[in-house]
Amino acid sequence: MQKPDLGIIIKPASHDCNLSCEYCYYSKVNKVYPQNKHPRMSPEVFDAVCHQYRTLKPQHINIIWEGGEPTLMGLDFFKKALDIETKNARPGDCWGNTLHTNGKLLDDKWCQFLSQNHFLVGLGVNGPPAVNSPGSSPEGTTTSEDIFHSISLLKKYKCEYNIVMIVTQANGDKPEETFNFLLENDLHFSHFNFCTEENEEGNGLTDHSITSEQYAEFQIKLFDAWVQNDDPSFYVRHIDNWLHLFFGLRPEMCEYQSDCSNLVTIEWNGDVYPCDFFVQKRYLMGNILDEPLESILQSTAWKEFTSQAEELPTPCHDCKWLEKCHGGCYRRRKKRLNAQQDNPFFCEANKNIFSHVFAKLDDLKKKPIRPNLYKFLNDIERHRLPHLQNEAPEKKQVEKQQTENRRKKPGRNSPCPCGSGKKYKQCCLRKS
Ligand code: SF4
Ligand code: SF4
Repeated sequence: MQKPDLGIIIKPASHDCNLSCEYCYYSKVNKVYPQNKHPRMSPEVFDAVCHQYRTLKPQHINIIWEGGEPTLMGLDFFKKALDIETKNARPGDCWGNTLHTNGKLLDDKWCQFLSQNHFLVGLGVNGPPAVNSPGSSPEGTTTSEDIFHSISLLKKYKCEYNIVMIVTQANGDKPEETFNFLLENDLHFSHFNFCTEENEEGNGLTDHSITSEQYAEFQIKLFDAWVQNDDPSFYVRHIDNWLHLFFGLRPEMCEYQSDCSNLVTIEWNGDVYPCDFFVQKRYLMGNILDEPLESILQSTAWKEFTSQAEELPTPCHDCKWLEKCHGGCYRRRKKRLNAQQDNPFFCEANKNIFSHVFAKLDDLKKKPIRPNLYKFLNDIERHRLPHLQNEAPEKKQVEKQQTENRRKKPGRNSPCPCGSGKKYKQCCLRKS
């Protein structure tokens, strides 16, 4: 079996963290491993991960280290991990590592190591610092000084890094301030994560979560601030993905792709889950020490998850945005989706964002209202687009076909197309 686009998230310290931000989704994972307060991955488990991942022939080998807080593993673990990667590498391989951290433990030694070994660092910030609202923990809190200290260390050692900004109720109405923070501090690479967690009762969102309306407003205002600034060297991940969609290219974020089968999460003990938002007992797919990853990815449990993730609610079937939106991220699509005919959680938001962003990009490309963006967009269209469009025409064709198939596929709870009057899942789906 080959899985060229597979990405792997490794959680070497599982949910364990040296902060306790109140909105944190990952802290819930401690319910999955209640007996282990401080889980730690052994080098043997990581060796098995590398070996099994390598046999799936991924095109770009990228290990995403995530938590909790992965730096709790200590620098020696990561040194060993690089030796293990080298041991498992074949000629021509290029292994990449991405480390997501809250920065609390970063010091000169860490940053030197990360820089020398070309890690891409995602520094989590609850910002901008003026509204920084971290949770406290026995080890302390992240203050504005901590954030600036981490950034200065990353800059000092010329680490590759981006700012991962968490958007909650604390900063959900501050897109302009947030973008100004990036500009003022010369932070050219950023990504925004939006907190949309369900409360314990399962009847609404947590107090920290933002609504779909806030999401749309934040994204649109952030995009407008980016346009106003007229400097494409400020990379914002969502904006970059919208540019891909605008030019008909394949975006890299999974929420703009048609399936959820290209990401797996491996917990500290080798347990395999789909993406990191599904680390829950009922989504446990297997353990790599008992069964190779290859067979886990061919198991009934895995196929059931990916086919449910592919299934679209009724409103998406005839939607003009489907090729770009794909119904949105599966975990958010499920939120408060009581019936198949309901709109997915971010549906209206995505429609508003796409209409606004694509109309504006079209305008910016035709008229030199913002000279730098005008040049940037036209350069892409004239010089880079012909080359990029030729990169994987078959893949694009396959994706187009998959989208069309999804349009036609009935939902599990929809009336069965055979006309039996039963639900699809109780009729032909069950038989198939
Ligand atoms: S915009 Fe709404 S209806 Fe259209 S594909 Fe996205 S989620 Fe579905
Ligand atoms: S559920 Fe969402 S985050 Fe997870 S793989 Fe699917 S699109 Fe990506």
